Amino acid sequence: MTNLEESTSEQGTHPGAHDAVASRADFSGEGRVVLAATPIGNVSDASARLVKLLQTADIVAAEDTRRLFDLANRLDVRVKGKVVAYHDHNEHMKADGILDDVERGATVLLVSDAGMPTINDPGLTMVRRAIDRGIPVTCAPGPSAVLDALALSGLPTDRFCYEGFVPRKHSERLQHFRSLLAEPRTIVFYETPHRIEDAMEDLASVFPANRPMALARELTKDYEEVRRSTVAGILDSVKNDPPRGELVLVIQGASVEEIQEGVGAVTVLGAPDLAALAQARAQSENIRIKDAIAQIVAEHPLPDGSLPNKKEVYNAALSLTHHRPAQQ
Ligand code: SAM
Repeated sequence: MTNLEESTSEQGTHPGAHDAVASRADFSGEGRVVLAATPIGNVSDASARLVKLLQTADIVAAEDTRRLFDLANRLDVRVKGKVVAYHDHNEHMKADGILDDVERGATVLLVSDAGMPTINDPGLTMVRRAIDRGIPVTCAPGPSAVLDALALSGLPTDRFCYEGFVPRKHSERLQHFRSLLAEPRTIVFYETPHRIEDAMEDLASVFPANRPMALARELTKDYEEVRRSTVAGILDSVKNDPPRGELVLVIQGASVEEIQEGVGAVTVLGAPDLAALAQARAQSENIRIKDAIAQIVAEHPLPDGSLPNKKEVYNAALSLTHHRPAQQ
């Protein structure tokens, strides 16, 4: 017996699926894991290899079994193997049981809801454990929104970094954006429609307004659209015409000129230096020391994009005041 969870769907529970795995496994010894990309919108993007694997794999580990059967129906394919739910919440528990079946000879097809497994989707645990156990793991590649958006953005593709989803929280977003300000490679982010405006506000507060960027949405679908502009232009367009559907942001990396001008350059100052700067700012602009500290701290992010501790700077400012020599 395996410990695999049976799908409740008709195709997933067809009689004998499990026995077929076990008996074949006893003799073949040719098991493997195949990660397969599935369409991100246009079903015609399914590869011939994906179709064949759906028909022939002994086990299909799917992020969402209903979506798997929906895809199979649209491809007019019958999934003959056993279907198991394999998602972020159970992959740590499930991976080894599935790999036991692979060791007994099963071919396991691993698919996520859309695109490439492991790219902000389940699969990495399976890959790592397969590697640890010396079990063959391979890939049937195909659609992924990262590469589709990057290629359509018109921005440099020779070097890029994929940053996953933009952080949800305002403070984490700002920190993350600051840490990428001097990144020379093209930067790719995933984002959702309900957070895009907040994300763009924060992006525009950190990145130069004229930095080229693109927003790609609904790739491969009927309403596919790629907006190509600058950080300021995309912020405007998001406000004036909120994009719906699935989104990818692509931002050009820092130019040589920007880097020479010191964009994102980090000079780490200690609390006493920041306090001295804040006092000078408070005096020259006739503002409260608290407000001056907030400004100075915001202007001096640490290398990871986080900001120096305001309280420490405040304490340093207090002790500077106390130790200042009496004026003649
Ligand atoms: N594994 C997928 C891949 O390889 O692209 C990514 C899965 S992640 C959970 C889903 C996110 O990918 C969406 O929120 C969106 O940012 C992006 N995405 C997926 N399909 C897309 C599409 N057709 N157009 C634009 N972005 C898409």
